[in-house]
Amino acid sequence: MSQKTTTPLILDGNAYAKEVLHHIKSEIELLKIQNKQVPGLAVVLVGDNPSSLAYVKNKEKKCKELEFYSEVHKLQTDTKERDIINLIDLLNKSNKIDGIIVQLPLPKHIRPETIVEAIDPTKDVDGLHPYNLGKMVSGQKSLQPCTPKGVVGILKYYSINLNGLFTVIVGRSTLVGKPLAMLLLGENCTVTTTHSKTKNIKEVTKAADLLVCAVGKEHLIKEDWVKESAIVVDVGINVVEKDGKRKLVGDVDFENVSKVCKAITPVPGGIGPVTVAMLMANTLEAYKKRNEIP
Ligand code: NAP
Repeated sequence: MSQKTTTPLILDGNAYAKEVLHHIKSEIELLKIQNKQVPGLAVVLVGDNPSSLAYVKNKEKKCKELEFYSEVHKLQTDTKERDIINLIDLLNKSNKIDGIIVQLPLPKHIRPETIVEAIDPTKDVDGLHPYNLGKMVSGQKSLQPCTPKGVVGILKYYSINLNGLFTVIVGRSTLVGKPLAMLLLGENCTVTTTHSKTKNIKEVTKAADLLVCAVGKEHLIKEDWVKESAIVVDVGINVVEKDGKRKLVGDVDFENVSKVCKAITPVPGGIGPVTVAMLMANTLEAYKKRNEIP
């Protein structure tokens, strides 16, 4: 039984995202005053996965709000890999486009690695091209993957001192877990990455000062997996049916974990909005680099 009764600090992703987007908006206003071209983002969507459609719509909306130029390319599920690469080639050459993202997951017949590697690394605003991942691993400045960048960003926004924190990441995907481990190492955390084959996982997570979960399993992280006064970041997004309604929940049992932890991100309203804000920040960063704006 937990002894802790105080409420945890809620790490509000909407508040942090709002601040990031506000900064971007002021930079765009300055560019417009100077009659300069605005940053441009191209989103490629293959198929009609409902979650992907919703994510793409949200990115389009953010571009509109920030007055970015945007293009959305919706392709049929059975589009050939070669045709997607041809489209990426055009976007690589387009002067209006600074950032290109291909919405994941892709249909089974398309290899995501091949598609990501077709993107010009200077326009790879998802930060998933091997060139950018390699630079990140070697500690050089690069376009960083949006979700891991956002996790580090929100912790800093709340002035959480990461130095020396024993950190456990649950999930080892190329999209989240692995790059996040690199970024947190760079922040002097001591990082352990766990996955579906980890033995006695609960014992590992229970030792964490900072626990990040990116799995995609509702309520995987329960109260007794979490150390009292830990900081908990929930990256997971799971769509569940409750009382006949669709609802978003994370990987963490928020209600019960909140009773023991020191700080926690909610779902929705946590890492989701932060990830979109990081995409916009990366697009601006790619734009500035391409146009040699300091
Ligand atoms: P993924 O590629 O499917 O990877 C899931 C990871 O979880 C794998 O490493 C897997 O281990 C591990 N895993 C599965 N079951 C486990 C278990 N029982 N215990 C411990 N580890 C387990 O997923 P992803 O792309 O990283 O995404 C993870 C979640 O984050 C999803 O819910 C996704 O929707 C969400 N997400 C959210 C955002 C956002 O903006 N908030 C962005 C990206 C992703 P193995 O490697 O051993 O299979």
